[in-house]
Amino acid sequence: MSNIRERLEKVRQEIREAEARFGRTPNSVALLAVSKTWPLANILEAAECGQIEFGENYIQESVDKIDTLYKQPNAPQLEWHFIGSIQSNKTKEIANRFQWIHSIDRLKIARRLSEQRHPSLAPLNICLQVNISGETSKSGATPEEALSIAQEMSELPNLKLRGLMAIPAPSDSFEKQREIFSQVRNLQEALNQQGLALDTLSMGMSGDMEAAIAEGATIVRVGTAIFGQRNYPA
Ligand SMILES: *Cc1c(COP(=O)(O)O)cnc(C)c1O
Repeated sequence: MSNIRERLEKVRQEIREAEARFGRTPNSVALLAVSKTWPLANILEAAECGQIEFGENYIQESVDKIDTLYKQPNAPQLEWHFIGSIQSNKTKEIANRFQWIHSIDRLKIARRLSEQRHPSLAPLNICLQVNISGETSKSGATPEEALSIAQEMSELPNLKLRGLMAIPAPSDSFEKQREIFSQVRNLQEALNQQGLALDTLSMGMSGDMEAAIAEGATIVRVGTAIFGQRNYPA
């Protein structure tokens, strides 16, 4: 049986404790519940415990869940964040279903999302995914190209560039985790000195959440610690 409520409470408490320990403003770190691979029932269970923001990685899976949810009467209004890799021919599936997209690493994707987002909706919040040293996946803009991409992204209508997202390689060393996250924060500060107004750092997962909070994360993306171990690696 599922212990989603208990796990969620524990993660929330860990976030509040890390905020206090590292001198962060109370409640300045938002919890994104990463529900990839889990059925809608688990999402609804977390929603009943007050969780509103959910992160999904796979386009078809998330489209199915979101459309099924909103066909139900009295469905809770949740906030959907896309955090997975995006092929350019799939952008239209997510442009109007999500409130946030964290995983944009090239202009082409941002331009298509801006064209496909209905102007009647609130602007789509986006993060530029960056490939900081030591990152496992090959996705992400390099720190060198981040400024020019971010500047162009910030000009697009129907989108609102909020900040940076990173997925560092897993490490057991707290200090090593902090070192990588501090590079993401430094990059954000450098971009803001060039005139951007980024207020979001999307970084930290179940295994490195505290180090990310220590280095300024404003959204942590947590799956396993809330929903349990996924059945296939994803
Ligand atoms: C799966 C995933 C997460 C959550 O990872 P956990 O280790 O289960 O907390 C966070 N961010 C991204 C981009 C993911 O793909």
